[in-house]
Amino acid sequence: MAKTIDKVFRNLRLPDGTPSAIAVAQGKIAHIGTDIAPEAGTEVVDLGGQLVVPGFVEGHIHLDTSFYGDAWRPHVPYTAGFNVRERVEIQHRNMAAAAPMDQRARNQLDLCIANGSTRMRSHVMVDASVGLKSLETIAAVREQYRHLIDIQLVAFPQSGILSSPGTADLLDAAFDHGADLIGGLDPVSFDRDSKGHLDVVFGIADRRGVSVDIHLHEPNTMGIFSIEEIAARTSALGMQGKVVISHAYGLGDVPLDTVRRTADTLAKAGVAIMTNAPGARPFPPVMELRKAGVTVFGGSDNIRDSWWPYGDGDMLGRAMMIGYRSGLLTDDELGAAFDMVTAAGAKALGIEDYGLRVGAAADFVTLQAAHVAEAVVAVPKDRSVYRGGNCIVRDGILEPVTLKR
Ligand SMILES: [Zn+2]
Repeated sequence: MAKTIDKVFRNLRLPDGTPSAIAVAQGKIAHIGTDIAPEAGTEVVDLGGQLVVPGFVEGHIHLDTSFYGDAWRPHVPYTAGFNVRERVEIQHRNMAAAAPMDQRARNQLDLCIANGSTRMRSHVMVDASVGLKSLETIAAVREQYRHLIDIQLVAFPQSGILSSPGTADLLDAAFDHGADLIGGLDPVSFDRDSKGHLDVVFGIADRRGVSVDIHLHEPNTMGIFSIEEIAARTSALGMQGKVVISHAYGLGDVPLDTVRRTADTLAKAGVAIMTNAPGARPFPPVMELRKAGVTVFGGSDNIRDSWWPYGDGDMLGRAMMIGYRSGLLTDDELGAAFDMVTAAGAKALGIEDYGLRVGAAADFVTLQAAHVAEAVVAVPKDRSVYRGGNCIVRDGILEPVTLKR
């Protein structure tokens, strides 16, 4: 029996600029084409010729540590160069003085949703200092937002695993408290024990049957060493497609032949790379990685927190930043930047009901642009967001129904 069409969106353009219409049934896309003739009584929405793109995938964020919507906190510089351990200590001091975590997380989610993200992966700190409290708080906020955005939570050992006694057990327990994935942090430079760190991370992944997303700030050949270790573990456990390395800064520091060799290793192991095009720091050459078959995707990472004062929760703007910093110019290259905040993000996050295709969730964003290439460079802000075919953001403002939570 054919599904009853609930709503037809007309007068829109698909990402490549083609005029089209979209029919929605039970929150999913039922038909795409210009030949949709709605039955009498079916709701018809005229989108005024706007571009329609899938809801954005926020592939890496920290819902527990942002001060967005709270008091402005001036950035505290490092005393002697980039040092993750020092930054974590600054963060602990800041967090102690911040507004309640659930309130800050909601502020940040409202910002991301207003900008069109409908899927998200957030890392949440799990360590001996905060235990599982942050995870429980963010998991409760996730429940309040289920009708607006799908959120995956990563149990993230921000203070290391071996450096923070008790953390290994907490990470394992996190899967009884709302975590979906196991995280990790700089196995060599932070814990100074690559094998010990990765034994815990992949041990939990194997035992709990969960995916992995590791923060890797390690530079140069140290970073490449860790990437190779992570890829080897991924292959050994048959976890292709279930492991992400976030940042992988080392790939931005090494010569091209090393990038290519490492890219092949990543592609064979099915390990994806997340980047946020981080400030002035070298970062992975995204097109070289894509050429080798590596899934590369984007995330905001920190939004106005102890790491940096930047971040606006706009994944279209993030695509522009990745494209700008990577020297992407042609329409195809701009399309690649867009892919990193949409389809490639969904692939890396293991999301299946995604995209502008029949059967996928009717989650999409309307943009004032002729096509994706123009959207990436113009980053138009007056956008509306639909979730399951329902408008949750109109012209950048959250709808009243959105706020019912
Ligand atoms: Zn991060």
